[in-house]
Amino acid sequence: MSTLFDLHSHSTASDGLLSPAHVAARAGARGVSHWALTDHDTLAGLDAARAAAEAAGVRLIHGVEISIVWEDVPIHIVGLGFDATHSGLRAGLDVLRGGRLQRARRMSDALAAIGIPDALAGALKYTETPEQISRAHFARYLVELGLFKDKGEVFEHYLTPGKPGYVQHRWASLDEAVGWIRAADGVAVVAHPGRYRMSGGQTRRFFAEFKDLGGAAIEVSCGSHTPDHARHFAREARRFGFHASQGSDFHGVETGRPDLGAFAPLPEDLKPVWRLLGY
Ligand code: AMP
Ligand code: MN
Ligand code: MN
Ligand code: MN
Repeated sequence: MSTLFDLHSHSTASDGLLSPAHVAARAGARGVSHWALTDHDTLAGLDAARAAAEAAGVRLIHGVEISIVWEDVPIHIVGLGFDATHSGLRAGLDVLRGGRLQRARRMSDALAAIGIPDALAGALKYTETPEQISRAHFARYLVELGLFKDKGEVFEHYLTPGKPGYVQHRWASLDEAVGWIRAADGVAVVAHPGRYRMSGGQTRRFFAEFKDLGGAAIEVSCGSHTPDHARHFAREARRFGFHASQGSDFHGVETGRPDLGAFAPLPEDLKPVWRLLGY
């Protein structure tokens, strides 16, 4: 059987549109053999994912996508292959999530101040887990109101730094995120490095710090990267001696993002991150 690793995806346990079981079944149907569910700051989908993956003949790799801030830049760190029962990792994620609902209340107040009332209630309609409330849920609600035609426009006008509905939140630090993942015997991966607002020099400083802390890999081929990004970060992986990861960053069908398993293969000379996961 041929192998296809998709090591970045989301379910309704965070801001994805499909349940963990549906993502598992879809991964199997799309030829993914090894699949990581990497919901934002939570492990809540993993039990349902495990059972459904088994039924679909897909190997589940434990995953999570941790929100951090480094030098004022919001960045995502993916953890893979960890012990999902590890108390330090679980406790760290619990604290991180606690802040989401508080931030959402402040976002809702800020939107009310510019004439959009009850945005929190509107956003909460889109998630079954209030503690997982994210900007993506607010964006869906503002699209529903007919204020903008798509979520991208909402983000651009309301939900990004400097815009009226954006509220700063203290996420984890880089060393906390990498530390939790490593303590639980997992592998730390920089998610979609092409998506951050950093210069090449700042990105390299970030990579150096990540490596010093025990970070092992960066995403090279992923749903949020252009072919240029993939080429660039393949070079950076070689330069820093990082392993390379790949994944769709699937959030649901018809989200305008790639489907499960839909990304270019890694360049052959790179060390795939799954070598560190025992595959
Ligand atoms: P949060 O974790 O609450 O800050 O929300 C971030 C989530 O919003 C991301 O995981 C994406 O799913 C989504 N998102 C961020 N930027 C955009 C954008 N420009 N367009 C559409 N969705 C976005
Ligand atoms: Mn997301
Ligand atoms: Mn991300
Ligand atoms: Mn993601």
